[in-house]
Amino acid sequence: MKVISELKETNSFVRKLRADGKKVGFVPTMGALHQGHISLIEASKNENDYTICSIYVNPTQFNNKEDFETYPNLFAQDKAKLEEAGCDVIFTPSHESMYPNGVDNLLSFDFGSLTSVLEGKYRPGHFSGVGIVVSKLLNIVMPDVAYFGQKDLQQFMVIRKLVSDLSIMTEVKSCPTLREPDGLAMSSRNLRLNEEERNIAPLLYRVLKEAKTALIEGNDVGNVQKKAFDSIAANALFTPEYIEVVDFNSFSLIKNGKINNSVAICLSAHLGKARLIDNVIVEV
Ligand code: AMP
Repeated sequence: MKVISELKETNSFVRKLRADGKKVGFVPTMGALHQGHISLIEASKNENDYTICSIYVNPTQFNNKEDFETYPNLFAQDKAKLEEAGCDVIFTPSHESMYPNGVDNLLSFDFGSLTSVLEGKYRPGHFSGVGIVVSKLLNIVMPDVAYFGQKDLQQFMVIRKLVSDLSIMTEVKSCPTLREPDGLAMSSRNLRLNEEERNIAPLLYRVLKEAKTALIEGNDVGNVQKKAFDSIAANALFTPEYIEVVDFNSFSLIKNGKINNSVAICLSAHLGKARLIDNVIVEV
């Protein structure tokens, strides 16, 4: 497995592979890898000749300085996991090479109504930073296919729009959320939970599954949403931020009535030092 940090070297390496007729898959990450990330590597390996994984903690997508500064850096472990998974290249660019002119006065992205809700509402500027870094990474790596997790569903919607609106010649695919045996969605931020917090964290997925069942049974969206929010808030260690039902295609909020199209139930909650997000899709 190669580790490359230079942008041009990465780009030339992929150009050569593609000139040789090889299909290249790409998995962008911020490191502190878990089995959820590895499942994306496996999806890429199944469908491509070469798999490249980037590890880059992108400063422009953090709206919270402490979250950025304390983001785990576990490169030695990550490298071993990627080697074992059969990844071909790790791309680890420096901040200086990604943002040679600094991060002020950068281009900004406006994804319209898609980002006026959920993460976009609670993390101002986050998706513009995601748009910038994903554009950069896709321009440097020029993969045939890039793989993202359903865990960050709104992020996937944003990237799908970015790639479509800018005619970026990479196919983007969403892969299922991997969970711990007790249902907690795997996340690098779970490392911030203490034992007590980790033990109650699976409540989020239980609440999502109950809400899903209630929607399928035809209950009113507003009532389901309120009950789910209250179930999380009832536990003093949690501070729920939002729980929303959105139309799966338009990502517009649904506030009441029975569902008659596929929806996603998305939530965010603070638990100790971690801010956790999760979602389930309800197909109709
Ligand atoms: P991150 O390192 O958190 O930026 O995540 C890198 C990629 O892994 C993103 O596309 C995430 O959606 C995806 N991912 C994160 N957690 C999971 C999970 N539990 N299951 C599947 N994919 C995930």
